[in-house]
Amino acid sequence: CGIVGYVGSQPALDVVIEGLSRLEYRGYDSAGTAVSADGKLTVTKRAGKLANLREALAGAGHSDTGRSGIGHTRWATHGPPNDRNAHPHTDCTGAVAVVHNGIIENFAALRLELEARGHELSSDTDTEAVAHLLEEEVAKGASLADAMRRVCLRLEGAFTLVAVYSGEPDLVVGARRNSPLVVGVGAGENFLASDVAAFIAHTRDAIELGQDQVVELQRSGVTVTGFDGKPADVKEYHVDWDVSA
Ligand code: GLU
Repeated sequence: CGIVGYVGSQPALDVVIEGLSRLEYRGYDSAGTAVSADGKLTVTKRAGKLANLREALAGAGHSDTGRSGIGHTRWATHGPPNDRNAHPHTDCTGAVAVVHNGIIENFAALRLELEARGHELSSDTDTEAVAHLLEEEVAKGASLADAMRRVCLRLEGAFTLVAVYSGEPDLVVGARRNSPLVVGVGAGENFLASDVAAFIAHTRDAIELGQDQVVELQRSGVTVTGFDGKPADVKEYHVDWDVSA
């Protein structure tokens, strides 16, 4: 339902949680975050309101060293709203974490294929297959962005996907088809969200991602390509209307 991504110099967890709280008005049944720090990802997720997630994060004594991260508020379509089905979803190794809005129509076939190759899936969601597919690609040596482009070509349906990979800690990668994704362009920091309301407190310079595009978000800038890897034209615009959140 709601998606946030961040790369910059502020504690990523704070920016991501604040972004998610600005998307609360859309409604959701669970929430979660993944933060990249010291070569590993920390994933925390809970059914229920953001307050439950905040409590879990506080209880875990979460480190604030991570400067890149992703977050999600879920509106369940595949699998009941419980902790296990909340996003982010990870692969077996925990190297890749992904959040998703929408529906992957061909997930059942993808899950069978992954299980036949030895993957153990631990949720009921359509989303989890994407985490395992991304992991297979990075394990073969692909960058997260290449992995995302390859995997998106195999997906049917409507999706906004945002992912992080422990091997590329200063990077967040997003993709979209039939579901919105907007980049917030800052100075030395950049944002991704399903809705500008998530980052409007930080920047009003935005880029709307086009159909079937992938964005690589780094501190210093953003790169946009098609699923085919061809560079895409991006038009930056200024959000000058009032966003109530
Ligand atoms: N289909 C996914 C799920 O059920 C994503 C739902 C959403 O857009 O929040 O987990």
